[in-house]
Amino acid sequence: LFPDLILFGATIMPELPDVELERRYFERTALSEPIAKTKLVEPALLYHTAAQSLYQNLTHHHFTGGRRHGKYLFARLDNDRWLVLHFGMTGSLACFECAGCQPDYTALLLEFDNDKCLAYLSQRKLGKIGIVTSPETLIEERDLGPDALAISSDAFKTRITQGAGGIKSWLMNQSHLAGIGNIYGDEILFQAKLHPRCAVKQLSEADIARLDDKRRHVLELAIDRTADPQQLPRTWLLPHREQKHIDCPRCGGAIRKTKINGRTTLYCPACQHEQA
Ligand SMILES: [Zn+2]
Repeated sequence: LFPDLILFGATIMPELPDVELERRYFERTALSEPIAKTKLVEPALLYHTAAQSLYQNLTHHHFTGGRRHGKYLFARLDNDRWLVLHFGMTGSLACFECAGCQPDYTALLLEFDNDKCLAYLSQRKLGKIGIVTSPETLIEERDLGPDALAISSDAFKTRITQGAGGIKSWLMNQSHLAGIGNIYGDEILFQAKLHPRCAVKQLSEADIARLDDKRRHVLELAIDRTADPQQLPRTWLLPHREQKHIDCPRCGGAIRKTKINGRTTLYCPACQHEQA
């Protein structure tokens, strides 16, 4: 009944590529048609918005476009407001034709005039739903840095040159750069051959150039391959993450696990050096 649910259901912690795919999915399925009915199933997910305001801004209005910044999806409405969605853990969108149906884990359900429905699913109930006057308002409120994919190479280099602390923490901090989380942080560092605890201050110009190059490459290719680990190159770390013992796809040595910011960090001690 809900074939689309399988499409994006596998992502545990959505990062930039996952949310970009949600944005594209949203734009393919939800634009133009007036919203006939709004049902907020999980009011606990409301972000700086009263339920009444959510209903008023959605019902009898329609979406005119989508935008993504980091891990946030913004859906523009015809009344100059934006519906903002953050996917938290295991969040996703599902469009289906079945008026009156409500898939499991639905947090917000929109029924359009043509009987199509759009559900925002949140299995762990850790997402956010809100109405904002502009994406910029939320970006400022949440102190989000530039989008990790949209940022230019020059701006990225300037930002990281002013940074401090360990490189993995730096990359994952949403106020430095918005969109990179644990899994893509590991992948970018693996491909840039940088140790996750490498001090940002110690990075050479060549390190930074490699990092910038891999940031773009990893995010772009991941989006291109629908963020499905099994469709990503076998030379990447990502398709092997779920295995108990991982051999480095580059040198064949053992991949090591450590904790950074409470998250399991994977790296190859042979390929990824602390300092150049
Ligand atoms: Zn290696």
